[in-house]
This record gives sequence, structure tokens and C-alpha cells, in this order.
Amino acid sequence: MDSSHMGNDLDHVLFTQDQIQERLERLGEQIWQDYEGKDLLLVGVLKGAVLVMADLMRTLPGTVPMDWMAISSYGSGTKSSGVVRILMDLREDITDKHVLIVEDIIDSGLTLNWIQGNLRSRGPASLEICTLLRKPEAAKVAIDCKYVGFDIPNEFVVGYGLDYDEKYRNLRDIGTLAPHVYS
Ligand code: 5GP
Ligand code: MG
Ligand code: MG
Repeated sequence: MDSSHMGNDLDHVLFTQDQIQERLERLGEQIWQDYEGKDLLLVGVLKGAVLVMADLMRTLPGTVPMDWMAISSYGSGTKSSGVVRILMDLREDITDKHVLIVEDIIDSGLTLNWIQGNLRSRGPASLEICTLLRKPEAAKVAIDCKYVGFDIPNEFVVGYGLDYDEKYRNLRDIGTLAPHVYS
């Protein structure tokens, strides 16, 4: 779905699909260099990271495996609950693997903080994070994130995998919603 199909639900576009692709290309180059000769496993967090994973992994100039986990953090609102539960676990044993978590967005950091702790207890060779978006002003815990696409203001964004009440994930761009959508 293009921004032009959003009617008056969209307030403004933050990043176009071209800007997102361009940034992912750069991140992919960096990741490929950093993990040269290492047993890399990309771990995506459903559902928001689906499009980041799909586009990021295709920038890599060689084959790389992926795995997924699903957790619950948000309900249908726009605030992090801080309550994390595994809905679907990884299929792979990550012991001694170089794990790179692929995420859509770091807001409070509570979700990733929990995921990091959970995965670290399984004994990976290394554990790093790649997130497309990060909201520095919203941080409640400090997250050491090695690869960041864009730092953004503390606003609720949708598109490119990110939803509001399961809607707008298929918007190609990333943008903010008009106030009337929330009320
Ligand atoms: P955190 O625990 O860092 O506050 O948030 C984790 C999850 O909340 C993200 O992976 C994402 O699913 C959701 N989230 C946080 N901020 C936003 C936002 O601005 N827009 C959308 N659509 N989801 C968000
Ligand atoms: Mg996410
Ligand atoms: Mg969501």
C-alpha cells in the first residue's frame, strides 16, 4: 500500500521506501564485513520485523540463515506494557552461534532488554541487535544496539511492518497517524 492510499489517516511520512532501502543497504554492508567468516544467525521478532528482515537479508552478498520468535509486548494501544511473554520460540539451538537480533523499533527498550537476557542465557557466541528505528527520548532501559537505521522523535509510527491495532503494516513508507485515528 502506498501513502496515497492512506486517505486522511496519515499525518506525515517520515521515511519513504527508497530511503529505507538505501539505509538497509549500508547496514547490510557493515554487517557483512563485521561477520565475515563467522557463523551468523539472524533472529527476527514477529511480527513487526518481517519487512526489515526480508529487505535487510537480501542486501547481504552471501547466504545467511534466519529464525523467528514471537513475543507479546504491545496490546492494541500505543504504550509498551513491559510485560513480555514468548508466544513462539526459536527453532534453532543458538549455542555458540553469532546471533543478530533484527528488530523494527526500539521504543522503551523493555522488550529487547528482556529478549536479550533470554537469548544470552542460551549461550550464543555473540549477541547483537540491528533495529531499523530507535526512539532515544523514549528509552526506559539502556540498550546497546550495534546497528541502527534511524533515530526518530518520540512519536508513534506505522508502516513497513509496524502496526496500529494490526493495521498499516503493509504501508510501504513509514509515517505518523493523524490524531483522529486514535480517537
Ligand atoms: P518497547 O518495548 O521498546 O517499548 O517496544 C517494543 C515494541 O513495541 C516494538 O517492537 C513494536 O512492536 C512496538 N512499538 C514501539 N514503538 C512503536 C511505534 O512507534 N509504532 C508501532 N507501530 N509500534 C511500536
Ligand atoms: Mg518489534
Ligand atoms: Mg504492534
